[in-house]
Amino acid sequence: MINVDYIIYADYVLPMDESLTVIKDGAIAVKGTRVLKVGTSQDISRYYAPEVVINGKQKVVFPGLINTHTHAAMVYFRGIADDQPLKEWLENHIWPAENRWLSPEFISDAIELACLEMLKGGITTYNDMYFYEDAAAEATKRVGMRAALGAGILDFPTKFARTVDEYFENAESFIRDWKGDSLITPCVAPHALYTCGPETLKRAKRVADKYDIPIHIHLSETKWEVEEIKSMYAMMPVEYLDSLGFLDEKVLAVHCVWVTDREMEVLAERKVGVSHCIESNLKLASGIAPVVEMLKAGIKVAFGTDGAASNNDLNIFSEMSTAAKLEKTLSEDPTALDAKTAFLMATRWGAEVLGLGKITGSIEEGKSADLVMADLNKPHLVPMYNIYSHIVYAMRPSDVEMVMVDGKVVVNDGELTTGDESEILQKAMDWAEKIRGM
Ligand SMILES: [Zn+2]
Repeated sequence: MINVDYIIYADYVLPMDESLTVIKDGAIAVKGTRVLKVGTSQDISRYYAPEVVINGKQKVVFPGLINTHTHAAMVYFRGIADDQPLKEWLENHIWPAENRWLSPEFISDAIELACLEMLKGGITTYNDMYFYEDAAAEATKRVGMRAALGAGILDFPTKFARTVDEYFENAESFIRDWKGDSLITPCVAPHALYTCGPETLKRAKRVADKYDIPIHIHLSETKWEVEEIKSMYAMMPVEYLDSLGFLDEKVLAVHCVWVTDREMEVLAERKVGVSHCIESNLKLASGIAPVVEMLKAGIKVAFGTDGAASNNDLNIFSEMSTAAKLEKTLSEDPTALDAKTAFLMATRWGAEVLGLGKITGSIEEGKSADLVMADLNKPHLVPMYNIYSHIVYAMRPSDVEMVMVDGKVVVNDGELTTGDESEILQKAMDWAEKIRGM
């Protein structure tokens, strides 16, 4: 017998491996931070002696969901200004609030709330673009979640930095401090083409190459943005980025709502990953990204929630469901974006577009034990004919019972084990008192 820390049993185990195996009556052996073996409960119990057994009668276990784009600390601005166009929403509400309130203390407290919401909704990894990422990293690690954290870069001064040089100095010191951490992957995040000029974009690319880290950027979110870039550079946004030598597999392009067929070809050739943030795009009426066409072109697309001020929750279950249904209606084809593909986008591909494919995104030998156990014994989940269909079209964050990140149980019986939930909620309400009175 081989000693392990955990054996996790479940009626269904979805490892999301290459062949998309569904293991009925399955089990996973976890040792330290890693998955040691995945198989049937019979096989696992025969060879492995666990310290702790987690039983999963009428449960399903699947890889932790990946939120490939958010501004996590914006949970403190949730609902502060809704029902407005993107430009007005940003310039008249979000940017002023950020300039007034952002600080390492704000970020630290807000990140705890965001991580709590995400973990309880089965998300084990998120990709952030924001400021004071040092504070975000500390808070994320404290709660025990995995994250790629993008130090935001802009061409104009904010409270966070006065000059482009200062943004880059902050970014590089953050990258140097966190590179190689077990949970935190630092990255560089130039905000967008309309807020970062060509020199800034090229410099961000040089930083990504120097440290071999991901780049995270908003791209072609609105029609306004595309027209702006066309009038400034006489090129479509993707062609413009390509002309700067910016595009490669390290780049995660967020939104890509208004990309042409030619631009999709370029994104596919350069192996750029795309984060699809459908609920944010719908709420801001930015448009609907051509997901089916991008997938056909060979682009790897994954899901992101975007910030909570434009969504308004951090819920990958609803992103999957909304995206799959919309694609069917748009293409007048109910077979478009099927449940299995949607779930692949939310797990394995999510990790891959963040450059974390070797670490997380599936439950396989040698990968980190980042996994979720959800209850199937619910009115909206019985009877069960197809597990992918249930997860994508019917499951809710409240069905999540246990979450493990890097071999550590961070949610047990639906409750956070690494922090005090009521304290985290109270801090949010205390901050809101101040923000309301601004
Ligand atoms: Zn965003």
